[in-house]
Amino acid sequence: MTTLTLVRGDITRQRADAIVNAANSSLLGGGGVDGAIHRRGGPAILQECRKLRASHYGRGLPTGQAVATTAGALEARWVIHTVGPVYRVATADPSLLASCYRACLRVADELGARTVAFPAISTGAYGWPMDDAARIAVQEVRATVTAVEEVRFVLFDDAAYTAFAERIG
Ligand code: ADP
Repeated sequence: MTTLTLVRGDITRQRADAIVNAANSSLLGGGGVDGAIHRRGGPAILQECRKLRASHYGRGLPTGQAVATTAGALEARWVIHTVGPVYRVATADPSLLASCYRACLRVADELGARTVAFPAISTGAYGWPMDDAARIAVQEVRATVTAVEEVRFVLFDDAAYTAFAERIG
């Protein structure tokens, strides 16, 4: 049984087995959550990302997939990097956003993580409307069979918190 919890806050401050990074496909860092994780987690994370690029993801981590690294100096054991889809009204594919959550939980299961903290993937630079992103996130986590005991959504502002709270009910 997986419990869904909500907190308003900064994902880099979470104590959890794994925290999820809303990365971009380069795995070399960026703004938003990605920048914050690398800043606070230190260079060990980027070092592992570079190795993963060299060994597996020379063309980038595909949208909707996930891969884990160390969490460096963060209070977590692992960072699970996933690449959300960019929102474009004509082509926005909800199944790719759902796939991020499912893929992260699969990686979490492989690692043996029991608590996983997620940001609202794709809702920043990638432009996905918050209400729709919350609906997809909650629906997909509830539909995924996993040994993860707590999925914690870490929302950065009131609007995001409210959107997720309404979906969790
Ligand atoms: P994406 O490129 O997938 O859209 P972003 O990192 O730009 O990812 O934004 C994803 C969401 O995370 C946005 O709602 C943004 O407000 C939020 N966010 C930004 N920084 C943090 C943080 N340190 N902790 C939690 N959420 C954050």
